[in-house]
Amino acid sequence: MSGVLLLSIQALIYFGVMTALLAARKSYGVGLFVCALGVMHFLETYLAAVFFIELPFGLLSPGSTVLFSGKLMMFLLLYIREDAEVVRQPIYGLLIGNILLVVLALVLRFQTAVKMPGYAPDLAFLDQIGILMVWGTLLLFVDCIALIMLYERMARLLKRNVLASAFVASAVVLTFDQLMFYPVLNWVTGTPFSALLGGWVAKMGAAAVYSALVALYLSFGEPAPSKRRSLADIFQALTYRNRYEDLLARSLVDEVTGVKNRAAFEQTCREWLERKSPDGRPITVAMADVDRFKAINDQYGHAAGDAVLRAVGLTLARHVRDGDTVFRYGGEEFAILLRGLDHPEALEIADRLRVAVATEVQPLDGRPVTVSVGVASSAYGAGDLRGLLDKADKRLYDAKRLGRNRVVGETAPA
Ligand code: GH3
Ligand code: MG
Ligand code: MG
Repeated sequence: MSGVLLLSIQALIYFGVMTALLAARKSYGVGLFVCALGVMHFLETYLAAVFFIELPFGLLSPGSTVLFSGKLMMFLLLYIREDAEVVRQPIYGLLIGNILLVVLALVLRFQTAVKMPGYAPDLAFLDQIGILMVWGTLLLFVDCIALIMLYERMARLLKRNVLASAFVASAVVLTFDQLMFYPVLNWVTGTPFSALLGGWVAKMGAAAVYSALVALYLSFGEPAPSKRRSLADIFQALTYRNRYEDLLARSLVDEVTGVKNRAAFEQTCREWLERKSPDGRPITVAMADVDRFKAINDQYGHAAGDAVLRAVGLTLARHVRDGDTVFRYGGEEFAILLRGLDHPEALEIADRLRVAVATEVQPLDGRPVTVSVGVASSAYGAGDLRGLLDKADKRLYDAKRLGRNRVVGETAPA
């Protein structure tokens, strides 16, 4: 029993010091916590590989029971207290740092070492621990992401019960880890089979103890910020995918109006041209241009003009159907792409948009803000958007000529 007692003491010391560092991040920065976590990794892997104790249920390694399991729980705590954007940094940092270390150690083999009295570098050991470090770190990487995702999933199912959610998530992940780490450990160091079962039981014990400690820690002090993000969003953040996609999405949005920009329109044109077989649904381009916009700018200033543009963009976007898209094509011109409508139906929708702008955009000194719209449709689905745009543009010009605040399509007099 003294074995279990010693393990518990180790776990308490580990958890106590690490959470003290975590709590101190508000005053001293999160670097303390993250660096402490990282620096333990090498010896932790070594101990997990070679130092075992025997308990009634089998062989187990304090290195993997206390330190490795503890480290996973620390990542979970960091995630709960902060967010995916913070915890992903050490997750990736550990992976990259460990692989770098092993690669550098490999290069070192080509150097001629000077014989030192009393100790010869143990290169076979270096190989063994190198393999375990790389494999262990790869597993840790997968474990961390899986643990956080599972925790979030469980927390949603279990009404945010921290203890139960943390326990289920860590038990599942540590079981996976044990099953994946043991075969490589056995291959490299010949660790006996009883260490697979013993290590697993120990890890389940660690999952229970650490989950209780995590719940206890979280019930004191600062409340964890509530996370209203979707699971997909959390996953994308953890794996750095969202930064790239955010950037991509941001570069296609017009800053003034919040609708898609000209670049997005051009991209859509290219995509539709490249699509080899049209999907058969008709497409419509509606070009909307704000009437007498120059006068608004001149009279009320550029900033007021921008506000009008924003309001027009928002109104158009609010009134198109799902799947239809509003682009700011240029200055005060908006292009709207509609799909699956015949021309009369498209004209109806365009007119609805026109009315929406005239009635919903805040009038200036009692004068409503209006748009003129030119509409062109093609019955054959994807293809040359630019040709349609030209037609719509000509009809827009007709709408202006006919007195503005109106929609002109194919049937109207030219
Ligand atoms: P029409 O009814 O014939 O369309 O008259 P209009 O005054 O709207 O026509 P015109 O094309 O001559 O004027 C468009 C004006 O839009 C000119 C330009 O200064 C202004 N403009 C273009 N881009 C922006 C912008 O981003 N913000 C603001 N405030 N004004 C812009
Ligand atoms: Mg105009
Ligand atoms: Mg114009």
